[in-house]
Formats: sequence, structure tokens, C-alpha cells
Amino acid sequence: GGFAALGITGALLKSTEKAGFTDPKPIQVQAIPAQLEGRDILGIAQTGSGKTAAFSLPILSKIVGFGTKRLPRTCRALILAPTRELAVQIEETIRTLSKGLHVSTALVLGGVSRFSQIKRMAPGIDILIATPGRLTDLVREGQISLADTRFLVLDEADRMLDMGFIHDVKRIAKATHRDRQTALFSATMPHEIEQLAAGLLKNPVRVEV
Ligand code: AMP
Repeated sequence: GGFAALGITGALLKSTEKAGFTDPKPIQVQAIPAQLEGRDILGIAQTGSGKTAAFSLPILSKIVGFGTKRLPRTCRALILAPTRELAVQIEETIRTLSKGLHVSTALVLGGVSRFSQIKRMAPGIDILIATPGRLTDLVREGQISLADTRFLVLDEADRMLDMGFIHDVKRIAKATHRDRQTALFSATMPHEIEQLAAGLLKNPVRVEV
């Protein structure tokens, strides 16, 4: 039962349970096995549904055990969020779920010092959580490369659209590895989000809670 039945194993299963995650929520039951199989996800889910763990655990599962060899200035996984507050929350959840597993995370956000963000990215990290505007700037300047990024998540895609980030999101997605796995989560599914999803996702599994 629990997260083991969804395919989460070993040290990650232990750290997940230790974080108090023992009974998977419906969005996690639907989305985790599909992502572990390598499928893209189109998720219609609200805040509070448990979507953060639904997209983070499969990434963690694939990243734990990759070892510490990384290319400078790159990230293995990228999670895009509309606001600083949400990005910080996502990083906290990931750190809680992966406590003790030596997974590195970084935040790239607008409105705060670029210097420390660039420094943090220098050796390469596992999971980058970013808002689209600042990340676009740092990628354009060559401070961050997404060429080795094989996992991409768009969280609260409808809010990123409302905030005018759609072009940045598309540009960022284009800069990632072409063989990436992608998950897109949105509370609503207006036409523009359906179109964005059609352009970024390959034969996605649709999950709705
Ligand atoms: P989210 O929708 O990802 O923001 O999650 C909402 C809240 O539920 C957060 O406080 C999570 O830490 C918590 N949560 C998500 N999944 C589980 C779970 N399976 N067991 C316990 N708490 C969870």
C-alpha cells in the first residue's frame, strides 16, 4: 500500500514516509505511476490537492542515484512556477521529501539578488525551481544552461499565462533537452493552456481531481 504501491522505493520511500506522507492523495495515485513509466502529464488540479508531491516524487525517484557528477550551470529538472511564494513552497516540499538523500535544489526568482542565484547554479544542481522572467534573463545571458534538463514541470500554468509569462515559458521549454519528460498542472484549462499543452506534451496522460 501507500507510496510503495505507486512505485516509490528505497531511501526515497523512507524519507517520504518520514515526512508524514503515508497515504497518497488521488492526484498522486493517478500521476505518480504514469510519470515513473516516463509518460507526460496534463494535470487539472487545485492548490491543496497534493500536486507538488505528485510531480516531485517521480523526479526525485529518477534523480536519486544519478550520482553527483553534473555539468556546470545546468539542472537535471526544472520546475516553473508563477510566483516567488509558490516556488519557495515547492522547494520546501522537495527538501522535506528528500531529506538525507543528497539532492541539490536551487531557486531562481525575480525581485531578489541575481548574484547568489548565479553562484548557487555554478556547479550544476539537481532540481531548479524558478519563475519564468528571471530564468529567461539568466538563460539568455548564458548564466544557466537548460541543455541537460530532461524533466520539466509547469505548475499553475493558467496563472503563468495570466501573468504574461507565456512567451518566456515557451522559450524556456525550447531551451531544455529535446528528450525531456514534461508535466503541466493547471487549475483551469482555457483554450490557451490546451494549446500550450499540445505544443509541449507528448501523448500526455490526463489526470483530473
Ligand atoms: P499541495 O497541493 O501540493 O500544495 O499540497 C497541499 C498540502 O498537503 C501540503 O501541505 C502537503 O505537504 C500536503 N500533502 C500532500 N500530499 C500529502 C500526503 N500524501 N500525505 C500527507 N500530506 C500531504
